[in-house]
Amino acid sequence: MKLRVSAGSAIALGLMSGPLDVAPCITYLMLPGTCEAECSYCTWGRDDYLSRVRWPEFDIGLLKGVRRYCLQTVEREGMENEMDEVLGSLEGEGDVAIAYLTQERAEILYKHGVRSVGIGLDACTRALYEKHKPGLSWERAMDSFGYDFSFFCHVIIGLGESDEDFLTMSQRMHDQGTRLALFAYTPVKGKRPVGGVSVERYRALQLASYLIEHGTPVEDFGIEGGRLVDIPRGFDERAFLTRGCENCNRPFYNERAGREPYNFPAERFGSYDIEGEIRRYLRP
Ligand code: SF4
Repeated sequence: MKLRVSAGSAIALGLMSGPLDVAPCITYLMLPGTCEAECSYCTWGRDDYLSRVRWPEFDIGLLKGVRRYCLQTVEREGMENEMDEVLGSLEGEGDVAIAYLTQERAEILYKHGVRSVGIGLDACTRALYEKHKPGLSWERAMDSFGYDFSFFCHVIIGLGESDEDFLTMSQRMHDQGTRLALFAYTPVKGKRPVGGVSVERYRALQLASYLIEHGTPVEDFGIEGGRLVDIPRGFDERAFLTRGCENCNRPFYNERAGREPYNFPAERFGSYDIEGEIRRYLRP
């Protein structure tokens, strides 16, 4: 059986050669085949790329020694059987990224001891979800959080949400015990752009959602006309690290090497003036 491996993970495992500016801390894997969900911002199914990452295929036998991995699923008929087979074949500890759970899907994950699940909600509101993910159901995605896993909600900033939409979603997730895994919308070759986010706005929302996750209520933030204008004290550089399941650092998922990363994959913040970026966003 074949499995897709992110190019960075494949290089780190010695399956292919290439430059590796920052090593992934876990191995990123993906089920083979085409995703049929047709989300507006995703190029999957057109070539080997998902976001900025290439995912070449390798024989699953080559992945036997992987200790910790994230398995990215795709939406299509029969995916559950394949996910079951792959999770049964791999030896290490796995997290799973999936659009939504059903009882059948949850049972498969329980059976294989999966503890941490990333739900690809992506959009902050029902209206944006229905606009960008017309093949999927908002209710089904939200109902997924009712199963017994440690959840991360994947959210893409830059799909047309207001700051208030995002902060309201952050508070809602915090209230139900779910943490966020943030992504920046990334325009990709071969697809008409459907959004965008400046690094300044991303920084401000990263910090705000980090503070909400650490107990600052959304009511404490200054919001005018849906726009974030003031953040309570509590600047913390850890807000700008990649957030997600244990050790998930997703290097270069949203950005080119050499550019300021939206999510820092390691505690090396270089000379970027992150506080200045946030100030510029709040008071342009
Ligand atoms: S947060 Fe990272 S490890 Fe967890 S499901 Fe999402 S991509 Fe995978």
